[in-house]
Amino acid sequence: MLVDLHVHTAVSSPCSQIDPRLLVEVAAQVGLDAICVTEHEEIEGAEVARRLGEEAGFPVFRGVEVYTELGDMLVFGLYRPRFPLTTPFAELLRDVREAGGAIIPAHPCRGSHGFHHTLGDEGAEFLLANVDAIETRNGGSSPESNAAAQAYAEKYGIPGVGGSDAHFLMQVGRCLTAFERDIRDEAELVEEIKAGRCRASYASEVESVRLSGIWR
Ligand SMILES: [Zn+2]
Ligand SMILES: [Zn+2]
Repeated sequence: MLVDLHVHTAVSSPCSQIDPRLLVEVAAQVGLDAICVTEHEEIEGAEVARRLGEEAGFPVFRGVEVYTELGDMLVFGLYRPRFPLTTPFAELLRDVREAGGAIIPAHPCRGSHGFHHTLGDEGAEFLLANVDAIETRNGGSSPESNAAAQAYAEKYGIPGVGGSDAHFLMQVGRCLTAFERDIRDEAELVEEIKAGRCRASYASEVESVRLSGIWR
């Protein structure tokens, strides 16, 4: 099952141009089986997209991208209307654990802000010992940054996931996560991520998505 785990819409992310109704259409067209909407610090856009997905018969799962002092975190399974502009990582981690959710550093090695620069080996070790997966394919990061994240996933033995980080429709699906099993709801999404039954990919590496004609 092919899922783009990281998408922003214009509903909650002023930086995004994506109309959630078109998002659902395009996601199906590019060959994805589901998408996750992960707005910055807010759930509203994901709620709207989920309702539209229900109407269209296309699965949309809710997530959120939360800024912490250790960088952006993709969070699944913890639902609240709004997070503060910065959430202390320890607090977020506690709340995610209490809710039974999943927490994943987004684009962890992007540019000079990646944790390998800012946290050093010890900080990186602490972070990676406490998260459920790491984003190793992010559509807004360079191949080098994604490769650096991949190296962390391998070194620490944690699952890698992929998402487009799309802010424009044409970016939807450019990175994705291939899950071994079908996912019917958000609880199963969290379960499959935690179990590591998934693999991060570029769209160009997935034949069915490539053949949709958008990604070649
Ligand atoms: Zn981000
Ligand atoms: Zn993002």
